[in-house]
Amino acid sequence: MDDKLDFIKRNLDSVMERIEKAAQRSGRNARDIKLIAVTKTVEPEKILKIIDEGILDLGENRVQELTGKYDIIDRKCNWHLIGHLQTNKVKYIIDKVKLIHSVDRLELAQEINKRAQSHGITVDVLVQVNVSGEESKFGVALEEAREMVEKMSAFSNIRIRGFMTMAPFAENPESIRYVFSKLRDFSIDIRKENLDNNNMDILSMGMSNDFEVAIEEGSNMVRIGTALFGKRIYT
Ligand SMILES: *Cc1c(COP(=O)(O)O)cnc(C)c1O
Repeated sequence: MDDKLDFIKRNLDSVMERIEKAAQRSGRNARDIKLIAVTKTVEPEKILKIIDEGILDLGENRVQELTGKYDIIDRKCNWHLIGHLQTNKVKYIIDKVKLIHSVDRLELAQEINKRAQSHGITVDVLVQVNVSGEESKFGVALEEAREMVEKMSAFSNIRIRGFMTMAPFAENPESIRYVFSKLRDFSIDIRKENLDNNNMDILSMGMSNDFEVAIEEGSNMVRIGTALFGKRIYT
């Protein structure tokens, strides 16, 4: 029988196949590329469906929605905070998230470090970089990212795992390929510095519209919502 949520499985199969092919084109194994299912605005029944299909990494862009779903979704899964994070909200998520993708200022890193310290944990983070310089996007400018990462290496309860970026929306994702390749080159550069508390092993790049190009340019973490769950009505 065709369940009304089966479309999610079909979408997932198709996304996985596209990840596989893009990985091959970049000479890598698809197993090395982590799919984050972006569940913002998605109802719990659909989230449970994707968990049942084996996707355990879930991305939310708002603190309140993340903590709400954290309580509702009674499964073992990994929550990723992928959206803008206000300093005064760090305390609500510090012990709930697997990875914070959106560290875009030193003050925020400092607060995460402080809260992590008081919980006796180390928190994995990515630095969000605004590569394109698009004004509507959050993220530290590429020119300022090195200094920020260097300063962050003093925070012993944070582990910098790499970078995240959002490319501008483009009809043709080829036109934004440079965003991904620039950030990849930059991460290779930073890795050479061998900074403390810094692994530089994750590049979170690619969304529904551009994940194949992002993977071709070295992404190993893609954040996909629409291609899995369908179009959302933005809140
Ligand atoms: C919404 C969102 C995504 C997913 O976007 P889709 O186009 O629906 O795949 C990825 N990353 C961030 C930061 C988002 O806010």
